[in-house]
Parts: sequence; C-alpha cells; structure tokens
Amino acid sequence: MSSLDARLGALRGTAPPVPHNARTLAALTANPSCERRVVIDAAGIDKDALAAHLGHGRPLQKSPLALDYGLVFERKVTSRGGTPLVPLLREALGLTLSEVAYADVNSVGSDHDTSPLRIRHARTRHLVLSAARRKSEPRTLLDHPVLRLTVAGHSVYLEPDVVAFQHNGNFHIVEIKSFPVIHGQPDPAKVAAALTQAAAYVLALRELLQDDGLPPQRVSDTVVLVNPRNFSHHPTATPHNARTQIRNLSRHLGRLHRLPELLDRLPPHTTFDLAPGPDKKPTRPRGDLAADLATTRPHYTPGCRHHCDLAFHCRTEARNQGRIEALGTAVGEDLAGIDTIATALALTDGHLHPSRDHKDITQALRHADRIHADLRTGRA
Ligand code: SF4
Repeated sequence: MSSLDARLGALRGTAPPVPHNARTLAALTANPSCERRVVIDAAGIDKDALAAHLGHGRPLQKSPLALDYGLVFERKVTSRGGTPLVPLLREALGLTLSEVAYADVNSVGSDHDTSPLRIRHARTRHLVLSAARRKSEPRTLLDHPVLRLTVAGHSVYLEPDVVAFQHNGNFHIVEIKSFPVIHGQPDPAKVAAALTQAAAYVLALRELLQDDGLPPQRVSDTVVLVNPRNFSHHPTATPHNARTQIRNLSRHLGRLHRLPELLDRLPPHTTFDLAPGPDKKPTRPRGDLAADLATTRPHYTPGCRHHCDLAFHCRTEARNQGRIEALGTAVGEDLAGIDTIATALALTDGHLHPSRDHKDITQALRHADRIHADLRTGRA
C-alpha cells in the first residue's frame, strides 16, 4: 500500500471505500474550488453517511421507488447477455451486426475478495486490451467494467453502470439512464448531465488505452444513451456527440488541486471515521466529526445542494461563520473579495476603513444602506 493510500485510509477509518462514479466526478468539476470534497472523495468516504450522522439532512437521497425503477430498467436492457442491446446499437450506430460477445465484469471476484475493484479493473483492462489488439473478436460488450482515472494526481476507480461497446477495435460508451425519452424528446438538462458523466468514462477508457501505447482516439466522442421510450419499460437508444463535455471535464480535472498538497495541510490524526459500534451505528461524537471536517477548506455555493450530500452541513457552517457564500451566488459575486458578512457590515457603517481594492464595493454598500434607511423611514 502506498503512503498516499495509507493516509487516505486513515481519513476514512474503518469503513470500506466508496468508489468514485461519473456523478461524483461531474460534481467535482461543478465546484473545483472545494478542497473538502476533493479530499473526501479521494479517500472514498461515504458523504451520505457523514451527512446523516451530522444530522443536517441529505439533499441527494433518492426515493427507493426511483432507484428500483432504474434498476429494473437497467436489468431489462442488459438481460440475456445484452441481447436487447444489440438491435438498439445497430440502429443507433448504423452498424450491421447480428450478435456480439458479452462479458459481465460485475461477476469477477467474490464476497471474500479483499480488493474486488482491483480484480474487476484487472479483468476489464485485460478484456479491453485484448479486444483492442485482436481482430478475432471484433465486437464485445462489457457490462459494468471497472475503469481507472487520474483525479487530482491520484488514481481513482470508476464503477460505471454502463456498457463499453467495442467494434473493430473502436470503443463507445453506452449509458443506461432511467429518465424517459417522450415522443423522441429527452429532458435536455438530464441529457447534458448524462453526457458529462459519460465523459468521465470516455476519459478513463482513453487513459487505459494510452497507458498501453494504443491511440486514445479509438474511444469515440459519440456516446449512446439508452432510455425508456415514453412512459414504458421499452428501451430506445440515441447517439450523442459528447465532445464538448469531454473537453470541459478534461480541463476541469486538470485544474483540480493536487491531493498530496491538500493532505499535507491537514492536522495530524484528522479522521472522518464514524467509529461504528457493534450494531454498526456511528459512535463518533458529532461535534468531534464536525471539528475534523472544518480542517478541510470548503467552497460552499447554493448549487452544492444539487450535487453534494454535505450541502446542508456546509451551508450551516457557512452561516455560523457569517461567510458571504451563505447569502448566495449573486451576493458572493457582487462582494467578491470580501469573505464575511461582518466585514461587509463594518465597511458599510464605517467601522472598517476600505483598502484600495474595496473602495468601489464600500461605496456601493454605503449607497445601498442609505437607500434602505430612506425606505425604512419613509423619506424615499
Ligand atoms: S457541499 Fe461542502 S463539501 Fe460538498 S462541494 Fe459544497 S462546499 Fe464542498
């Protein structure tokens, strides 16, 4: 085990690691300034379990009904060795294929494996590279492959609910999504989010090929989304050009802070271990956990609640510290450079003399304050 893995393991404590998935990567790039999230995700810490223990609510919790629906649809599409997918791919990609070889990478390893992700990644790697090099097996479907991607200078496993489809040495990512396509029209916001997630798999598959000296361009920019047609369980497949999402994700990932530097800034013995008791319930005092979380630097924005389980905790923390971000993105942008509400108020009422950089903002604050006072006293 590398020293980096050991440090991340100490942060995680006794819990098994939660692998990255495309959603967590897309979220990382939605808020690349958040060092807290980079550290927690790199350590594979279950953010939902942290949020539940901290008692601030869990913004991303999905209804069990929606989860069941998604699972049933996915199983239907990948049943019988991926048979239902073949005509869909034929149509979506304009291919003339009658059948494909199918490999379910999910079934590699067993409950007794200590590192099933590693084993499944090794299997995925073997299947992808032999499919890329051999012409004897020109079409392969990989169900639940495990890929690896470099994030913040650290390799993370991606465990996609997706199929990688190889045809004559070229690969496509196929994403199975449970949001419907109604009369040929999917929700554009959901398509954009799905393509950003698929972009993570494209990059990871390209990294795998490149590491073995193969051209990364063999992984296509065209991603196939498989969705329920109208309100039925019948699947429909649509090809989408994901070039923009791949480029954006690649750029964002390149800008993420380097992990070792972030870990060096943490006090020794920092841990986010929930210390589960014999009944598996956390025994860690909440205040203690919150204090250790506070050693990482967050970058709260109201948008966090759409992509991060810790949003309500970070919002409460920002409010308690009187931070400007708690007032929303527009106020944060207007008061750029001022960190706390107390500083803004002190500049407004003259208790604080503005630096040269803050002169314009201070003038604007004082002007707004005068208007507010006039409205309150009825002079306006
Ligand atoms: S909710 Fe907190 S940890 Fe999550 S991205 Fe926002 S600031 Fe970072």
